[in-house]
Amino acid sequence: MPKIINFHEIHDKDWFEDTLDVIQDLYEVVPFYEIQNFYNGKVKTKNIAHLTVDDGHISTYSIIYPVLKKRGLTASIFVSPKIIEEESNFWFSESCDYDKEKLIFCIGEMLNIKPENLMGIYPRSLMKLLRLDQIWKIIRLYQKKFNSPAKISQYVNLNQLLEMEKSGIFEIGAHTLNHPILSNEKDATAEFEITKSITRLGELLHRNITTFAYPNGSVNLDFGPREIEFLKKSGVKYAYSFEFKNLSPNNNLLAIPRYGLYHGNKDFIRNKLRYGALWEPVKKQFLNNEDKYRRKLQKKFRL
Ligand SMILES: [Zn+2]
Repeated sequence: MPKIINFHEIHDKDWFEDTLDVIQDLYEVVPFYEIQNFYNGKVKTKNIAHLTVDDGHISTYSIIYPVLKKRGLTASIFVSPKIIEEESNFWFSESCDYDKEKLIFCIGEMLNIKPENLMGIYPRSLMKLLRLDQIWKIIRLYQKKFNSPAKISQYVNLNQLLEMEKSGIFEIGAHTLNHPILSNEKDATAEFEITKSITRLGELLHRNITTFAYPNGSVNLDFGPREIEFLKKSGVKYAYSFEFKNLSPNNNLLAIPRYGLYHGNKDFIRNKLRYGALWEPVKKQFLNNEDKYRRKLQKKFRL
């Protein structure tokens, strides 16, 4: 059955090549318009896959772009025009290498939670329950307290984005401005993050933006009906979530499911693609495990 496959940053070119070998062995990798054709009932073969890449990490330009070019493949990418124009970082890349204990300390101070109640908690998962303004307060506190300077941007710059757009290899869509967990934000912030990312990206690329990927992307945890309405108003026709499902003609086009591939050897990737949610190791280790953990934290700390 047709699939949308998702990548984020790629650290190892060989891993990416191996993964594409498996994907191309199992599917015909198709451009975005074939997915549109599928939903319009016009596609003959069902054995198709479309590649997507979220965030616009520099490896999108340095690894993914040349490899796709060499193989004659295309993909959709989802970026923030703000991060690209400002050459800054999303909160999770700014804090990616922070010391876990020190970060937990800052979270406790910010949220007024005693350190003993935060023992053993994964800070990244806890931060995904907060608003952007709270997250950045925690990061600024960490930087000040532990003398940790702001990082240089880990994302593509405007010239690189424009070069990728010109290549014809990429369908470029929006991914908010600051990568909030949209459902944590107030109405006005969620609307601004969505609509401004679409209009500003459109201005940079001189065309209408009709595709979008939700940050984090879990249905009814990271976004819901409110976000879908904002997208409709902004003219977006296709929006991608994260759900471990094949495509179906009945999908809500503003919550299209995707398979994420981020690690594992060729056998692992092959099994994950073939058996998906039915494959026990996938279910145990990777399928919405963090979602369950976040719901637990949400209850515990009443966030
Ligand atoms: Zn993202």
